[in-house]
Amino acid sequence: MFRIDFGFSGLCFFPMAKRTSLFFMGGGVGAHLYSLVASEMLGKENVHVLMRDRTDEVPVRTLCVWGEPASLIHDAVVAQWATLRFGFGDETIVRRMDRMRYSQYTAASIRALVDATIDVERQIGEVNNPDASSTVSFDSRHDDRDVRPASISLLQHFHGWRVLTDEPMFEPDVATMMDFRVDQSDGVCFVYVLPYGPTEALVECTVFSESTWQKDHYEARLTSYLRDVMGINDYRISTTETGSIAMCDRIPLRQRGRSWIAIGVAGGLTKPTTGYTVARCLRDAEKIMQHYQRTGEFKPPARAHARFDWYDRLLLRIIRDEPAEVPGILWTLFKRNPIERILRFLDEQTDLKEEILIFWRLPWLPFLRAIVRR
Ligand SMILES: Cc1cc2nc3c(=O)[nH]c(=O)nc-3n(C[C@H](O)[C@H](O)[C@H](O)COP(=O)(O)OP(=O)(O)OC[C@H]3O[C@@H](n4cnc5c(N)ncnc54)[C@H](O)[C@@H]3O)c2cc1C
Repeated sequence: MFRIDFGFSGLCFFPMAKRTSLFFMGGGVGAHLYSLVASEMLGKENVHVLMRDRTDEVPVRTLCVWGEPASLIHDAVVAQWATLRFGFGDETIVRRMDRMRYSQYTAASIRALVDATIDVERQIGEVNNPDASSTVSFDSRHDDRDVRPASISLLQHFHGWRVLTDEPMFEPDVATMMDFRVDQSDGVCFVYVLPYGPTEALVECTVFSESTWQKDHYEARLTSYLRDVMGINDYRISTTETGSIAMCDRIPLRQRGRSWIAIGVAGGLTKPTTGYTVARCLRDAEKIMQHYQRTGEFKPPARAHARFDWYDRLLLRIIRDEPAEVPGILWTLFKRNPIERILRFLDEQTDLKEEILIFWRLPWLPFLRAIVRR
């Protein structure tokens, strides 16, 4: 799905400067992904990468991506699953993917792959301006210039534990993507479980709501999930992960100036209803480089078809106004459709015919109410 076809890499219609210099304003996950794509498509000997970030620390960040195994970042895979589990009410379903895989990376594994592949010149310090002497500046800094301001602003927030048990308690081949069998009284809440072996897993409590929780609130939810749903009472916590991702319908201004483009989260690459960003960055970078190869100019690509934006806004309204409906909607989405169709839908890779099939099988009323309500 996000396999990048590098058939274009040798095709260049524009007599480009011998060396393309890329200045990254912020050296986070996005900067590393765009630099990998650039070096693959333009040729690593033709690219100079300069990254400036206020810190050299790499965050503890688990990054999951579904799709056909991506050749470009394959060497950064930390773990991978072919089977996904979902839970709701007193039911669970398990779906085996055919061509796709659910792959886990980390911010550190992606950075290590870049360091093993490209010579990156790194600087530490604040960035305030693009670099006029570089061919292009890619900007990961947040900025409040909008193409469309947010009408809904929610958060996907989470806290997770990497737990170790003495007894085998996890199924290493099955990742739990969404288990709604937890208290839903204070926001849409689900747990996901990424097992690394029979005695080790990342167990994360994820919430869609207006604001983050106190740590002990997530911890209580995790404790009861491990005890009541998984039957695990004895465990040790080796590491924790906390974070939040904006779920909002804001469209930020991406072209901040000539050859100056916002990327990653700052460029609005996060899917508002899922928080997934990595695969979208890879596809975006590929399109930017293709355009550069054709025209010699750096320009952000067109957004996905407007209907995907409309679907996201409807679901965001339902999350905001009728959170109790959301677990049932997401459960039905996965239960009544082939898993790979839904994953492609969430990645905005389906066609209208497939989307009609998907919506046909969903509870309609919350969507009709969301269409009427603003
Ligand atoms: C905890 C967490 C888990 C996530 N999990 C997933 C996932 O599973 N799958 C997925 O697809 N997405 C996930 N995301 C979303 C997204 O992929 C990540 O947020 C990713 O790190 C985005 O990359 P980025 O480059 O846009 O931002 P960042 O990685 O945050 O990088 C931005 C960088 O810019 C630097 N910076 C900012 N301003 C300045 C300045 N003025 N001067 C110098 N430096 C500056 C910062 O220091 C930072 O290093 C997750 C996000 C979080 C927070």
